[in-house]
Amino acid sequence: MSEVRVRFPPSPTGYLHIGGARTALYNWLFARKYNGKLILRIEDTDADRSTQESIDGIISGLQWLGLDWDEGPYFQTQFTHEHSAAAERLLNEGKAYKCFCTREELEDKRKAALAAKQDYKYDGLCRRLTAAETAEKEAKGLPFVIRFKVDRHEIGGVSFKDQVLGVVSRTYNDIEDFVIVRSNGKPLYLLCNVVDDIRDRISHVIRGQDHLGNTARQILLYRALAAPVPEFAHMPLTLDLQKAKISKRSHGEIVAVQFYQKAGFLPWALCNFLALLGWSTSDNQEIFSRQELIAAFSLDRINKANSIFNYRKGDPKFFTDPKAISINEHYLRTMPIAELVPLVADKLREAGLWQDEYAAGQKEWFISTLDLIRSRFHTINDFVTLGRAYFSDDYEFEERAVKKNILKHEKLREWLPELADRLESLPDFTHQNIEEIMRGLAAEFGIKPGILINGARAVSTGLLAGPGMFEVAAALGRERMVGRLRHKTAGLYK
Ligand code: GLU
Repeated sequence: MSEVRVRFPPSPTGYLHIGGARTALYNWLFARKYNGKLILRIEDTDADRSTQESIDGIISGLQWLGLDWDEGPYFQTQFTHEHSAAAERLLNEGKAYKCFCTREELEDKRKAALAAKQDYKYDGLCRRLTAAETAEKEAKGLPFVIRFKVDRHEIGGVSFKDQVLGVVSRTYNDIEDFVIVRSNGKPLYLLCNVVDDIRDRISHVIRGQDHLGNTARQILLYRALAAPVPEFAHMPLTLDLQKAKISKRSHGEIVAVQFYQKAGFLPWALCNFLALLGWSTSDNQEIFSRQELIAAFSLDRINKANSIFNYRKGDPKFFTDPKAISINEHYLRTMPIAELVPLVADKLREAGLWQDEYAAGQKEWFISTLDLIRSRFHTINDFVTLGRAYFSDDYEFEERAVKKNILKHEKLREWLPELADRLESLPDFTHQNIEEIMRGLAAEFGIKPGILINGARAVSTGLLAGPGMFEVAAALGRERMVGRLRHKTAGLYK
């Protein structure tokens, strides 16, 4: 393959959407796979809707995801003169013309076509103006747009082989003489995008199917500007379970990359999930390291059918697509602990739970505790919410844990402080010794060990479930364990 040059050209009119992030990811994977270049181009020509906040959000979102680019960010507004020059050139070469039809005239024609049950297309009236007529209208100061002249003498239409969809064709009859420059002199997106892709020497345009309708017209522009036409690959759209496009308006924050950052996702886990939202390997592999994904990725395995973002609003169990969560859990539980430590440390700092000792005298304890508790966690945030009891005495009690594992057994009020006394006098506070004590004591009380174990868990961590209680007790340490069993139990019965 000749040099691969791809681009991610977001319009900075909002947050970085997960659909946009997926487009960036696919382009990034393709560039990395073929040792190509990824160009970041901010398409900011819509001055009314583009914002600096959105530009910052897009850039920081890409950085967080680890999707690095090789050139840019370029800004489309830097090249306005090139866009105008291209329109000028098309005019001079007779490939475009000035159109003086007014909005009202066009609207009347549209209505007439509608009434006659015909598709409306611009009838090319101004295409037939002579040079003198055009000059006369211009001299009068009449406003005009510039339209591209679709060559209707050619038989057939525009065909291209889309890398995802196969051959896509449009007949010339379906393509009207489209506007490339507005009456205020501003070139339209369709033209700017092509001019920029030509300048950036883009070899592959990998974008969403929502742009498929532009492609035939854009190919005509490439040809008219005597530039090589890039390969196109149109990715499926991402829909919700009701088959509606996912959007912030209907789905809220969960469609924004930033949400996942705040929710404690691992950036690569999100990339891995997004990769599968519209692409798969023949054996449906789900977990990919960066290198594996780069090696496995190919345009011809992008799905033709729209992909489904499996999000059930209000589902208490899953705050986003369960697959995204399960992929995040996988990485959280299996990643090298040394990589996890700084991420958790940051979250603890943010929550005011960090102690410098965790990086000094208690470093070993800190690492082994993270390793223990991560087996049940879904996100990095869980270390400061569900894991709070490991870092602070001020933690909350899950209502279900208190009801089911404390209040149900009135006698735990005595049993747990008794357990505290026994643990206090243990020579070595190891999980084996703790187990022996707890099982022995349960036998003495004539109860199932589970009652004592679950009660101890509820009191010492506030939670209904967690890793093995003997390991948990060892991780919490003698002093905290004894203190909590002794002093926190009674309070739960009030
Ligand atoms: N600026 C366009 C968008 O954000 C990108 C179009 C393209 O990829 O060609 O949808």
